[in-house]
Amino acid sequence: MIENHLPTAELQALDAAHHMHPFTDGDALSKKGARIITRAKGVWLTDSEGNEILDGMAGLWCMNVGYGREELAEVAARQMRQLPFYNTFFQTTHIPAIALAKKLAELAPGNLNHVFFNGSGSDSNDTNIRMVRHYWNVKEQPERTVIISRWNGYHGSTMGAASLGGMKGMHKQGGLPIPDIVHIDQPDWWSEGGDMTPEEFGLARAQELEAKILEVGPEKVAAFIGEPIQGAGGVIVAPDTYWPEIQRIVKKYGILLIADEVICGFGRTGNWFGCQTLGIEPDIMTVAKGLTSGYIPMGASLVSDEVAAVINSGDEFAHGYTYSGHPVAAAVALENLRILEEEGVIDRVRSEIAPYLKAKWESLTDHPMVGEAKIVGMMGSIALTPNKATRAAFAAKAGTIGLITRERCFANNLVMRHVGDRMIISPPLTITKAEIDELMVRARKSLDEAYEKIKAEGLWQEKAAE
Ligand SMILES: *Cc1c(COP(=O)(O)O)cnc(C)c1O
Repeated sequence: MIENHLPTAELQALDAAHHMHPFTDGDALSKKGARIITRAKGVWLTDSEGNEILDGMAGLWCMNVGYGREELAEVAARQMRQLPFYNTFFQTTHIPAIALAKKLAELAPGNLNHVFFNGSGSDSNDTNIRMVRHYWNVKEQPERTVIISRWNGYHGSTMGAASLGGMKGMHKQGGLPIPDIVHIDQPDWWSEGGDMTPEEFGLARAQELEAKILEVGPEKVAAFIGEPIQGAGGVIVAPDTYWPEIQRIVKKYGILLIADEVICGFGRTGNWFGCQTLGIEPDIMTVAKGLTSGYIPMGASLVSDEVAAVINSGDEFAHGYTYSGHPVAAAVALENLRILEEEGVIDRVRSEIAPYLKAKWESLTDHPMVGEAKIVGMMGSIALTPNKATRAAFAAKAGTIGLITRERCFANNLVMRHVGDRMIISPPLTITKAEIDELMVRARKSLDEAYEKIKAEGLWQEKAAE
């Protein structure tokens, strides 16, 4: 722990002077001063002014077992004393990596029995890009290099992962996407479904994959990647017709399916993996975040028997990270998985806590500003709209209304994020019913205040139809 004796304003000045924040307008933050989080327990954060903040986002979708678990601190300290680091290159290994790989193979669905360790979600997806292209190379189909992904998907922030992602604002910075990554539209019925029913729209958006495969040339396509439920894109839950059709298409053309489970994995949707909740059968799964409940960085690619056999049969796969399988991270991950399993955290989510949250969350649609409310397990979103019947967007620049609402949440000591004009939650899986009640009280208060402010400022205006 770092001892601190400085007042908030001085810390904020130092932060502004020296700390470059991710996904942040630096000048705007310098003027305002960052909120300084000093400690956390369960679902509660404390800031440097002593505010008690309910963390409706589980950190960044990662704090699955909640803050302050002594066991995780203990196991990290024990492992650091025994073996703080050794690499897994050059024909060596160590016990935490072996034990964690075995455990992940047991937990993962189907024949995903092989683990390539990475440091984060982003570099796991970079691993996946190189692995699927190498796979086709070994299979003597080197022209299969194209990976298809989705607009408004999020797969991380490295050159490769951000290219897979469909965030146009990210592509603009740094010359992305890298070659041979192409995108299809997302299955966001609320914003893009027009007059179609959700079922028709889900099918139509999935069929864009087939159209794209035919456009690129089926012999050139290596893989399709998608999040079972889009997280950073705004908790977009595809209509029920979507994934079965995607599955049919990838089978038909024999292309690999990568499920990015960085958020959905480790209980978030009420099963170990989002694929199990949605009936998806991937060849590779990306995991990170909830793997260690965010206590320490770690990611992994979980790989099928068939893909692993091909990779192993080829020339050396010239890829890896210094910290692949880091022993301290692996030990923390194992202990985190033990907690999830032995305390029945995921069972409790599925049978008790997620249904409780769902009923409350969906009741928000009685609020004048809330259109659809979507929730699967412990990840939910609401779409803010000035006209529920037509699903109209606000006239103000996209994100204006979401930002106003988020600022009211901030003021009410609730962490609820906005993505454009959607509000999203993803609380720790260990949240209690009483804490869900408190979350809902703060969410409603924030929505009420935002609604008043939006009307007072003349922003209750529909965007003209295009
Ligand atoms: C967060 C996230 C990533 C990137 O993980 P990092 O650990 O931030 O690199 C990748 N995919 C999804 C779905 C994510 O939510």
